[in-house]
Amino acid sequence: MIDTHCHFFDEEFENDLDECIARCKEFNIEKIVLVGFSYDTNRKAQELAKKYDIFYPTAGVHPEECNSEYKAQFAELVEYIKKNKIYAIGECGLDYHWSTEFVEEQKELFRMQCELAIKLDLPVIVHSRDAAQDTFDIIKSFNGKLKGVMHCYSGSAEMAKEYVKLGMYISLGGPVTFKNAKEPKRVATEIDINRLLIETDSPFLAPDPYRGKRNESSYVRFVLAKIAELKNISVEEAERITTANANALFGLN
Ligand SMILES: [Zn+2]
Repeated sequence: MIDTHCHFFDEEFENDLDECIARCKEFNIEKIVLVGFSYDTNRKAQELAKKYDIFYPTAGVHPEECNSEYKAQFAELVEYIKKNKIYAIGECGLDYHWSTEFVEEQKELFRMQCELAIKLDLPVIVHSRDAAQDTFDIIKSFNGKLKGVMHCYSGSAEMAKEYVKLGMYISLGGPVTFKNAKEPKRVATEIDINRLLIETDSPFLAPDPYRGKRNESSYVRFVLAKIAELKNISVEEAERITTANANALFGLN
């Protein structure tokens, strides 16, 4: 299994990261995409990846980090990427949940990171919250030239199909295991498994039976099991395909 979205550099793990990684090995999680989202976390992801070979670091600027200084933030990211090996741009995207003060700046910064991903032939990891249509419009504007993943996808199954047509992958996390989460289950059922990825987004959004607790990468097995159940295939088959998908998108082989 590959956890395609994790923030193991979070202070929630400062006392027991080694144990968390040991549990990943125990449950056959072979690789973890360690997702940066700011000046500090991009560096933390890089540092941890040097210490543990299970990690594949990324770098990006999250929409909640975006402000009037976005051009300088982007220039800094470009310089950083010149000196550090990364496997994806992001997470980046649009988030109107807490604030819509910098909507235009968010859109511009997201477009710039998409263009950078295309230029560097890297996938983009997309975060979208309360901004479904604007996110879709920006990705569509690249006419299928962009490759990447809609991380912890929470939109409709119909829109997920449109993203797949544009060449994007759909990643599901903890919510697909929640009893009352109808739409993620529809997405898991209706989207071709060749376009699905699994993730935790740890320390957030722990799947059942750990809902509400700290999330960790070894719990990605619960997401995988739920997808296998919904698709009516074996866990082994779901594992083989989602692992191949992640290896192909992020170039992890
Ligand atoms: Zn994240």
